[in-house]
Amino acid sequence: MESVDVLDTSALISWPVERMSGAVVLEGQKGEVERKFPERMISLEVSDLNWETPTDESVEIARKLASKTGDISGLSSIDLGLLALAIEKNGRLHTDDYRLQNLCKNAGVEWLPVETGGISSVWKWEVRCSGCQSKAEQPNFVTLKKEELGECQDCGAPLRVKKME
Ligand SMILES: [Zn+2]
Repeated sequence: MESVDVLDTSALISWPVERMSGAVVLEGQKGEVERKFPERMISLEVSDLNWETPTDESVEIARKLASKTGDISGLSSIDLGLLALAIEKNGRLHTDDYRLQNLCKNAGVEWLPVETGGISSVWKWEVRCSGCQSKAEQPNFVTLKKEELGECQDCGAPLRVKKME
């Protein structure tokens, strides 16, 4: 049986969307991606990723393991959730986080570094007016389509998502 890919956030934002088909990610990662990489969220919404939440039992297993190895102190709830999902799904975790890698080894979970090959940098995005360039507040990108960004409050020109310099 082909093991399922579980993606940490760096994989989630750097992998080509086609490659993520069928992969499992945390429901809790949505907020993080939305906040930091809103443009990315638009393409993730149309991908066939499986957004899931681990069971309380597997979170508890992950937490106990992390206490035992001492990795728990630097671990976010998202990290813990990813480990729990990987355990639960008997999956393969893609992460560059050394704590998570260490935990995978201890849990007998297969892990791989995130291959970002070819995709050199991670971009950040912001919303700006296409006319006067003034910066607008970032809307909720989960439900948003590009054409729904709206208009500039200062000059009325359409707002655009732009790569931050
Ligand atoms: Zn404007």
